[in-house]
Amino acid sequence: MTPQQALQKYFGYNNFRHQQEAIIQHVLNKQDIMALMPTGGGKSLCYQLPAVLLNGLTIVISPLIALMKDQVDSLNVSGIPAAFLNSAQTPEEQRQLVEKLKNNQVKLLYLAPERLFGAENKLVPFLKTLNVVQIAIDEAHCISQWGHDFRPEYLMLAQLKNEFPDVPVIALTATADKLTQKDILEKLNLTKPAVFVSSFNRANITYRVIPKKNSFKQLITFLNERRDESGIIYCLSRKSTEELAADLKDEGFAAEAYHAGLNNEVKARNQEAFLRDDVKIIVATIAFGMGINKSNVRYVVHVDLPKNIEGYYQETGRAGRDGLASEALLLYSPGDAGKLQHFARIEGNEEQSRIMLNKLNDMVRYCQLQSCRRQYLMNYFDEAFPPNCGSCDVCLTEFKRFDGTLIAQKALSAVSRLNERFGVNYVIDFLRGSKNEKIREEHKLLKTYGIGADISKTDWQRYLRELITMEYLQVTDDGYPILKLTNQSSLVLKGIQKVEFIETQVTEDTHAEAAPPHEAALLSKLKDTRRGIAELENVPAYIIVSDATLLEMATYLPQSLDELRLISGFGDVKLARYGRELLQPVKAYCAEKGIESKIAYKSQKRERKPKTERTKAPRSSSDTRTETFNLYRQGKNVTEIAAARGLSQVTIEGHLTYFVQTGELDVQELVPAEKIPAIKDAVESYGNERLAPLKEILGDAYTYGEIKAVIGWLNKT
Ligand code: ADP
Ligand code: ZN
Repeated sequence: MTPQQALQKYFGYNNFRHQQEAIIQHVLNKQDIMALMPTGGGKSLCYQLPAVLLNGLTIVISPLIALMKDQVDSLNVSGIPAAFLNSAQTPEEQRQLVEKLKNNQVKLLYLAPERLFGAENKLVPFLKTLNVVQIAIDEAHCISQWGHDFRPEYLMLAQLKNEFPDVPVIALTATADKLTQKDILEKLNLTKPAVFVSSFNRANITYRVIPKKNSFKQLITFLNERRDESGIIYCLSRKSTEELAADLKDEGFAAEAYHAGLNNEVKARNQEAFLRDDVKIIVATIAFGMGINKSNVRYVVHVDLPKNIEGYYQETGRAGRDGLASEALLLYSPGDAGKLQHFARIEGNEEQSRIMLNKLNDMVRYCQLQSCRRQYLMNYFDEAFPPNCGSCDVCLTEFKRFDGTLIAQKALSAVSRLNERFGVNYVIDFLRGSKNEKIREEHKLLKTYGIGADISKTDWQRYLRELITMEYLQVTDDGYPILKLTNQSSLVLKGIQKVEFIETQVTEDTHAEAAPPHEAALLSKLKDTRRGIAELENVPAYIIVSDATLLEMATYLPQSLDELRLISGFGDVKLARYGRELLQPVKAYCAEKGIESKIAYKSQKRERKPKTERTKAPRSSSDTRTETFNLYRQGKNVTEIAAARGLSQVTIEGHLTYFVQTGELDVQELVPAEKIPAIKDAVESYGNERLAPLKEILGDAYTYGEIKAVIGWLNKT
């Protein structure tokens, strides 16, 4: 059997994701591997599929019982014999397992590291008598002190290669940071390991930050729209998790608290209830999460500011493992930043304090961004990303812009008149004609003094900030920050270049949501059926089939087992075990409504991800983009569309770039073919993080729109 065939037969998937195929090929060739993939990327398949194909036993090292149990349940449901060994098992259970292992009746054996190498253990000699063909180390970052989740027992794994020198080891982690990666390779003593790094972008998560005002009210508004969905709410303190959970219960939500201070029984109970969808919301400190494989977490909310980007990204990453659209919401208040600053300072450890404060500052900057949040996150993890992801609040927001050329000219000439020797506050006071004695007498005589008196101080602060972002002004970073002109300033001063500012209130456009592409009533029936099956099998519902699978069913309406086979997630065993039962509600629904199977539509689209990846109707963002695209298809150019829609050209270009990126629009429609090589060259040499330098290199013959389009094309998905 080829890996491709096994993928379909055992897991019910049509295509490999990320670098799964290459990784699997390396394992089959008996090579050591380290694979870095984001959460939900599909790491497990990288060792589970070889385990199925290889004739022998795969040992999987995993840090937590909850994780092991989830994986073992999920494999068994798919007809792959798997087991775990843990201290909760009775001697009789253990004896039975040993028997099965001896008879080659187990394909994957899950173990905690201390089981393997703990003091009184004779497990290694026993395992050596078996035909071990692969060793997988899940959550491999636990071996590193640099990581966020160091587990001393992982250090014992250094002996693995001595004990099993000929068995390929595959180390897997979702930790991106370089120091940890290096540490993993060193500590595990892998032999000439092949390293696979996938993009860490979580395309199905939408990132939003809103100013925290009345957090409880804001939360309720958010949760009310998501009553049937599961989510995690992170708070900073144990006390507030309990209070918030209680308040949410009062409002009729199925919520429970989780933090390290609760006794083990309560923790286990709450976690289990969450996995089984009896509890929809877990209000937790960061103690909660690791070990949660629940694939249908639809949202993660941070009610308090996280301490650093690493933690934030990991926590938000717990949403949407099933690949369906999910949300990350952060409530930001500058007060929180102040509080955390206080905590970040560690008495007597200047070095450590400095690092923690820097990390906190990066987190605060993220909250205050006026540019794409996803790009910022990706850049933070050293990954290049284009400036318009189309699915963070910044990219989803249509900024109302106005012509601010005159305002810009006033600001730039003030800076120039003051000989580029003063900071922001002085320039603003000067522009507003302040009578303050700080303003030098000779400056009060200048013609520019007071030309900006009609604009408030806060507005001036904002305009200057934007001019700095647009690189018409710069700030020196040595000692006292001083405003200086840039080599683009003169274009504005001479009136060659127009400047647009964003109007004060930033509004996310909220058109009515379009009709959902799937049958919502059917989806909920399917969930009920799945729940029934899960209760009988005594596993969480998502182990039976994922939400993504049910959503496909409710979209393509399969009528027979043959049609059901085409739905992603049905391998042979699942199809035989649960196919009939899950088909029932679909057939009944279609008969009642007089609608037919749409499976033919799916087969055509096989290669592309179905549009139904989103649980919700397409958001306003995609509506507004589509509107632009339709006008474009009707033959209107960017200027005309901008005028017709009352949006800026920059926004329209952003919309069109999106379609270049998805492959629906040919880049050559937006950029003359002869210009593409030069832009491509510039992007490849200088990166795509910032447009202004690229524009500068390329010169006036190239527009921002053209540069953006080519970047979109280079990032085509
Ligand atoms: P990770 O361990 O990297 O966080 P998982 O291994 O739990 O991710 O996989 C996340 C989800 O994606 C699971 O539901 C898994 O079944 C699914 N998945 C994995 N590989 C594929 C694939 N090639 N096609 C479709 N779904 C996949
Ligand atoms: Zn974005």
